Amino acid sequence: MPTQCAPDIAILGGGIAGLWLLNRVRQQGYSAVLLTDQDLGHAQTIASQGMIHGGLKYALSGTLSGESEAIAAMPARWEACLAGHGEIDLSAVNVLSRDFYLWSSGKLASRLTSFFASKTLRGRIERMDRDAFPDALAHKAFRGSVYRLVDVVLDVPDLLDKLAAPHRDRIYRVDPAQLRWEHANGHASSLCIGDGIRINARQFVLAAGAGNAALLQQLGSQSPAMQKRPLHQVIVSQPGLPALYGHCTGTAAKASPRLTISTHTRRDGQRAWYLGGDLATEGIARDADAQIAFAKKELSALFPWMDWQHARWASLWIDRAEPLQQQLIKPDEAFAATANSARNVIVAWPTKLTLAPDLADRVIALLDAPQQPDANTVLPLPAPGIASPCWETLL
Ligand SMILES: Cc1cc2nc3c(=O)[nH]c(=O)nc-3n(C[C@H](O)[C@H](O)[C@H](O)COP(=O)(O)OP(=O)(O)OC[C@H]3O[C@@H](n4cnc5c(N)ncnc54)[C@H](O)[C@@H]3O)c2cc1C
Repeated sequence: MPTQCAPDIAILGGGIAGLWLLNRVRQQGYSAVLLTDQDLGHAQTIASQGMIHGGLKYALSGTLSGESEAIAAMPARWEACLAGHGEIDLSAVNVLSRDFYLWSSGKLASRLTSFFASKTLRGRIERMDRDAFPDALAHKAFRGSVYRLVDVVLDVPDLLDKLAAPHRDRIYRVDPAQLRWEHANGHASSLCIGDGIRINARQFVLAAGAGNAALLQQLGSQSPAMQKRPLHQVIVSQPGLPALYGHCTGTAAKASPRLTISTHTRRDGQRAWYLGGDLATEGIARDADAQIAFAKKELSALFPWMDWQHARWASLWIDRAEPLQQQLIKPDEAFAATANSARNVIVAWPTKLTLAPDLADRVIALLDAPQQPDANTVLPLPAPGIASPCWETLL
């Protein structure tokens, strides 16, 4: 006789999307379990730079896009959580930085300077005096302008741990090869795990990032369809590296940052810079050696006063998973929709760590009212750990 449980909701995927949602639905009285195939955060969430941003980086072109507007409300919701009075108590989460900078290698184009001074951005961006520049830019050879944004950077492994902690008895690790759906008449009745476990949830949420495509295929669903957008990030570590968080713009007005830097302290106490931005999006055309050589050239050009001789380097390929868009353009906001082959299966992609609260709202709007009491059926499955970030595993 298989072990059975019948929660209101079974969530597949233990990244930011699944964990944020698990917290929200259990607060609202739903019984729920979360199943994931690796350690929590594995894939995109643990690869993220942890920046909770209001979309200002998309405003570099001088206009606020749809994406900027959708995302603009998110920092306040995260801040409330971090202060302990938001929708989830994140007051114990380690904030890596509240100083998030936007700087230019040369003079910012005058169009951008007047945009930054505009009413839209008042209170969200502040021009720094030279004596308040972050250490990494406080060198007499640095000629550009520096702005401070009202954005925070979170310690992602710690965030995952704090989101999972209250729900550890509802989070399980599964082998995806063992998963089998039972569904008929446009309804998924059970998710079987091998022969021994049957989950008869009333609704299922696929929050498995890039894994959603395979789950949808198993269900026979053609929509919603997924796209992947690759990134080729770089990690560099060396003794004495200063902490720096922010975006470097090129001299030309461009909609995306030339380089995005976040700083992470490794277990051995040494800091690593994690590099994204145009370096990572355009770097998909370069192999690992060429990407590292390019990153060295960029850092030498942007920080000529720093010596990179003793640095250790690595690069990371990672796909962003999102709903399919025309011509692989960026999705505007978090996405949740019902699978076309099973009306009780919801498919979800946050598209950004920052948009996890928006994603949970969208999923909750698609849920039926809670019905099942939260019976604590213990499933004979292992518990996942927390994934290790690339600055620990790759250097
Ligand atoms: C390099 C990089 C940097 C980024 N930086 C930022 C940033 O600074 N700020 C920001 O807002 N956003 C950032 N993002 C975007 C953000 O990381 C993602 O949008 C977000 O983490 C996606 O979360 P997720 O939970 O949907 O997916 P994931 O984090 O990929 O989690 C999905 C989980 O599902 C599991 N899974 C897969 N298949 C199955 C299955 N069959 N059954 C069960 N479980 C399964 C996987 O193991 C995985 O843990 C970044 C993304 C990348 C790639």
